[in-house]
Amino acid sequence: MAENKTDIHDLFIIGGGINGCGIARDAAGRGLSVALAEMNDLASATSSASTKLFHGGLRYLEYFEFRLVREALVEREILLQAMPHISWPMRFVLPYHRDMRFESDTPTSRLLSRIMPWMKGRRPAWLIRLGLFLYDNMGGRKVLPPTRTVDLSHDPAGRPLQARFAKAYEYSDCWIEDSRLVVLNARDAKARGAQIMTRTKVLSADRSNGIWNITLEDCDTGQHRQIKARMLVNAGGPWVGDIIQNTVRSNSREGVRLVRGSHIVTRKLFEHDRCYFFQGSDGRIIFAIPYETDFTLIGTTDAEHPDPSLKPECTPEERAYLLDFASQYFQNPVTDADVVWTYSGVRPLYDDGATSATAATRDYVLKVDDAGGAPLLNVFGGKITTYRKLAEAALLKIAVHFPQVSPPWTAGVALPGGDFPTDGVPHLIADLRKTHPFLTETWAKRLVRAYGTDAGVILGSARFANDMGAAFGATVTARELDWAIENEWVRSAEDFIWRRTKLGLVLTDQQVTDIAGYIAQKTQVHTGSPSSDKASVPG
Ligand SMILES: Cc1cc2nc3c(=O)[nH]c(=O)nc-3n(C[C@H](O)[C@H](O)[C@H](O)COP(=O)(O)OP(=O)(O)OC[C@H]3O[C@@H](n4cnc5c(N)ncnc54)[C@H](O)[C@@H]3O)c2cc1C
Repeated sequence: MAENKTDIHDLFIIGGGINGCGIARDAAGRGLSVALAEMNDLASATSSASTKLFHGGLRYLEYFEFRLVREALVEREILLQAMPHISWPMRFVLPYHRDMRFESDTPTSRLLSRIMPWMKGRRPAWLIRLGLFLYDNMGGRKVLPPTRTVDLSHDPAGRPLQARFAKAYEYSDCWIEDSRLVVLNARDAKARGAQIMTRTKVLSADRSNGIWNITLEDCDTGQHRQIKARMLVNAGGPWVGDIIQNTVRSNSREGVRLVRGSHIVTRKLFEHDRCYFFQGSDGRIIFAIPYETDFTLIGTTDAEHPDPSLKPECTPEERAYLLDFASQYFQNPVTDADVVWTYSGVRPLYDDGATSATAATRDYVLKVDDAGGAPLLNVFGGKITTYRKLAEAALLKIAVHFPQVSPPWTAGVALPGGDFPTDGVPHLIADLRKTHPFLTETWAKRLVRAYGTDAGVILGSARFANDMGAAFGATVTARELDWAIENEWVRSAEDFIWRRTKLGLVLTDQQVTDIAGYIAQKTQVHTGSPSSDKASVPG
């Protein structure tokens, strides 16, 4: 455990996913004293297993989730400006075919089957165009280009697809490096005074005289210690219900619905830089996205997940479903042999009584329980895209108990390394290569995309590649690892190769072993042997 303060914190946050770290950053910046405990690594659960999109969620329009879609659409551009290194605009190609069907229980499909029964559940082109018109216009779009129609018989986006797809719509959303978003929020929270503890599990929290007494366990040593806080935030993601019932032992009966989503990563399936939005005959949709230079990311599924303690993994059925779905679009069938990695995450959705996992609301719900004196804020649902708005909404509830807190401040404030213009990545790369001529284009680009303006800080006065210390492969050096250990809570090879970066996709087993050895020696904690089975390591 990092620090050992005995004073009473204003806020104690359980969970180092995007919601916990986003709330910690916002609250610390408003002058509250904040501590956060994460039982594993930052972003080790759902927040590193998303589809990695800052998106409005086009398909949620069919569920009439207008508030959620509007808020998320407006957020895309606010977030893009605050983190142009880890987020960038992307175009999505949505091929149209008349066989596309609705999921049967969306409000839109029920309405259409009543007024246009002859459509027999088909999703008509005019409805998609209407949805995209709303998507373009309801959310303060300023820098992202609007929707256009694409002739797939001439456009390069049509080349990898089957000839039966003649027409497509192309619209905008943004990419986000989800696990880096979490660590950058944690870094900024720490810079503003928050205490961030990883590998620290909250075992119990009890109220006494208006104060929370929280028992923490150091997950490396097994040691216990106590900490006190005036308010507790349960941002446990998939564990939110478990924390309510077993850690805090509250009477609250709020429900969480655990919905697993899996992705497969394949070898690169197409050459252009746009994504595909594929609609299935079952009403579901999947994305096929250019990923990490040499790969394609395909996902996702929706399956009930029984228990948060069960590690989510892409089942053979989910893998087959995604391969089959993608193969209905690509000219060359996508097969098992194309898959290089899979990952799975669990959506902690608020239980709104929806019948299907796909239909359960993606909106966030914040519930304060102050029956026992000291207040507890439980966080349900939410999206990566709305994390900053969720934090602002949480602070509204927190401010009731801390009238001294200052007003909202995070909109447009750069995350660490993000203090440069949204189109500034090529300039940063060129500048870095001028000041550090030993950098290849690939190396400089990787550093800028991960660290933004902090890439220059990491490289410091290095003049030759040798100045960066030992080289571990795939442009990883001792100097970068030192920086990640010092500044980004890296304690194991997995933290670095699957969450601070995605270099696990390209490093060899021997290189991973060497990185693990170096990190273990630097942190002097036993990290265990790194997993050599890439397909089983969650991202
Ligand atoms: C397949 C999939 C795809 C998605 N795609 C997108 C997308 O493209 N765009 C988008 O906007 N959103 C997306 N989402 C949603 C988004 O990923 C989640 O809403 C978000 O990551 C949830 O973050 P969280 O902080 O609530 O939970 P988590 O990231 O799971 O964090 C909770 C943390 O709490 C910790 N914890 C639990 N109990 C304790 C304890 N007792 N002590 C200490 N720590 C504890 C856990 O270890 C965990 O790290 C997707 C989700 C899934 C599953």
